[in-house]
Amino acid sequence: MEGESRIKNDTPVPDGGDQSPLASRRAGLGRLTAAPLDLLVIGGGITGAGIARDAAMRGLSVALVEQRDLASGTSSRSSRLVHGGLRYLEQGQLRLVFEAARERRILLETASHLVWPLEFIFPVHAGDRLPLWKVAAGVRLYDLLALFRGRRHRMLGRRRTLDAEPMLRERGLRGAASYFDAQCDDARLVITTARAAIQYGAMVANYMPVRRLVTRDNRVAGAEVQDLITGIRGTIEAAVVINATGPWTDSVRRMEDPAARPLLRTTRGVHIVVRRDRIGHRLGVAFFSPIDGRVMFVLPWGELSYIGTTDTDTSEPPEAAGTDANDMVYLLRSANALFPGAHLTADDVIATWSGLRPLVRDDADAASGNSREHAIVEGPAGMLTVAGGKLTTYRAMAAEVVDRAIAALPARRRGGWPPESGTAGETLPGSETSDLSAFGERAFAIGLSTDTVAHLLRHYGTESAGILNLGMANRSLFQRIHPGHPAIAAEVIHATRRELARTVEDVLMRRIHLYYELADHGRAAASRVARLLGGELGWDAERIADEATRYRNMIASVPRPVPAAATTTTEPEISPP
Ligand code: FAD
Repeated sequence: MEGESRIKNDTPVPDGGDQSPLASRRAGLGRLTAAPLDLLVIGGGITGAGIARDAAMRGLSVALVEQRDLASGTSSRSSRLVHGGLRYLEQGQLRLVFEAARERRILLETASHLVWPLEFIFPVHAGDRLPLWKVAAGVRLYDLLALFRGRRHRMLGRRRTLDAEPMLRERGLRGAASYFDAQCDDARLVITTARAAIQYGAMVANYMPVRRLVTRDNRVAGAEVQDLITGIRGTIEAAVVINATGPWTDSVRRMEDPAARPLLRTTRGVHIVVRRDRIGHRLGVAFFSPIDGRVMFVLPWGELSYIGTTDTDTSEPPEAAGTDANDMVYLLRSANALFPGAHLTADDVIATWSGLRPLVRDDADAASGNSREHAIVEGPAGMLTVAGGKLTTYRAMAAEVVDRAIAALPARRRGGWPPESGTAGETLPGSETSDLSAFGERAFAIGLSTDTVAHLLRHYGTESAGILNLGMANRSLFQRIHPGHPAIAAEVIHATRRELARTVEDVLMRRIHLYYELADHGRAAASRVARLLGGELGWDAERIADEATRYRNMIASVPRPVPAAATTTTEPEISPP
C-alpha cells in the first residue's frame, strides 16, 4: 500500500513545447490583469469555488486563483459526507444541524450526480460512550431538524441490526439506529462548482499562487500572482480581496498584517481505503471508536470502503499533511473491533488520504461574532477572510461572504446587485433534470460496459453525453485508460478541456480518482494519460515522458506507514472509554 500525495506547494509546472497552449495561458493572465475586478478570491477549494460561483451569478466581476490544482487542499481529503453532523447534536448546536440539513437537501437536488443519499447504521455496544436510547433520541432530533423530509430513521433491535449488517461484532451489541445522510464526491463538487462559476463569467485559474497583496492608500487593492505554467507574474486588481485558503488562512492573513493573530486551529484527519469485501458491510456505518469514543465511519465507495477519521491537533504545514503509523493503528484497530471477522492489517490498505481541518479557534469567535463553524473577518487593510466551515454548508457560507463583499464594495459599485444569492435554485453542470435512458441506450449501443456507463453517470451526470461525443469523433477514446478501472480515455480530454486539468496527478487523483481506487494508484495509466494530456497541451515526447515519470515519482515518494503487525489484529483489548 502507498499513502496519499503530499501537496508540493509552488512546484513549478514546466513549460510545454508548443506555443499555442502557453500563449492561451498568457492571454488568460492578461485577461485577469486587464481591468480592475469587483472580487478576487484566493483559494480554489470548496469555499473559494462557492464564493466565485455565487458572486458571478449575482453579476459581479470575479476571479479565483488557486496556487495548485482546484481541490488539492482539504476539499479533496474529507470524509465525503454531506451531513447534518450528529456530533453537533451532542454539543446542543441545533442551529448548525438545521442549517446543514437544509443544505443537504439543496445539494441533493442541485448536485444530484455528485451528492447522493446514503443509508447509515449506528450500532451501539455495551460500554459505548452513549447508550442506545441517547443515540435514538439523537437521530429522532436529526429527523426533526430536517423537517422530516426524506427517509426517516428506524430503531433496530439486536437481531435486526445483525440482519442488516451481519459482520458486526455480536458481543455486547444492544441494537442500532438506522438513518439517512448523504455522501459526495468532494473533489468533483469543487471542480464542478468552479465550472459553474466560469459559466457565469468568473475567471478561474489554477497553478497561480498569490505571492503578495497589493495595497493602495493602505487598503488591499489586489494581489500579485505568478503563473506557475508560464512563470509570468502579474497583478490582479480588485475592489475586494477574499482569503478563502482553508488551512493556509493565517499565512495569507499575514500577507496583509504580519502581526495578525492566528484565526485557525488545525487538526489532521486521516482516512484509509480497503476492499469492501474485506469488511463485508453493506451500509454506511457510524460508530463510537472503542479506543477513544469518537464517532467514526466505515463508508462504502463502490467495491471499496474507506475508514475515518482521526482528529489530531497539529501545527504541521498543510503541504506536509500525511499519514503515520499511529493513524493507521487507530483506524485499523477501531474497524477491527467493530468488524472482528475482518482482521484488517496494513497490507489491506490500498490508499490513504490526510487533510487538515481549518477550525476557527475558540478565542477567534468573539472577534468575528460568528458561529464556531465559520468566521468572516475583515483585516486591518480590508481583506475579507473566511475561515472554517465545512463542505456541507459551503453554499450558504459563500452567500454570506458575498453579502459581506458587496457591502464592502465602493459606493459606485454597491447598488443594483441581487440582494440574495441565487445558488439554492440552480443546478450544477451535469445535474440538470434529464432523462438519462437515451444516454444509456447510446452508450450500450457503442459497446461501453455497464461499469463504464455507471462510472460516467456518477462523475459527469448529463455531461456524460459530451464524453460520448468525444469518443464518437475518435473511437480510440472509448478505450479504458487502466485495465482495472472503468474510466475511459475521453475523460482525460474532457478533464483538460473543461475541468482545468494540467498534470497527470490532476486527472488521476482529483478528476477520475484512480489514485485512491487502485492498488497501483493508476501507475499503469500514467503514460497513456500523459500522452492524452500532451496532445491537448502541446507537449513534446520528452515532456510527455517527464510528466508520466513525475506522477510515478509522486506515488513512490509517499511514505508507507507500517504499524507493527501485533497492533493491528482483530478485536483489540480495549477497555471502553
Ligand atoms: P481548502 O480545500 O484547503 O482550499 C484552500 C485552497 O487555497 C487550497 O486549494 C490551497 O492550495 C489554496 N491556497 C492556499 N494559499 C494560496 C495562495 N497563496 N494563493 C492561491 N491559492 C492558495 N466537511 C463536510 O461537510 N463533510 C465531511 O465529511 C467532512 N469531512 C472532513 C474530513 C476531514 C479529515 C477534514 C480535514 C475535513 C472534513 N470536512 C468535512 C471539512 C471540509 O473538508 C473543509 O471544511 C473544506 O474542505 C475546507 O475547504 P476550503 O476551501 O476552505 O479549504
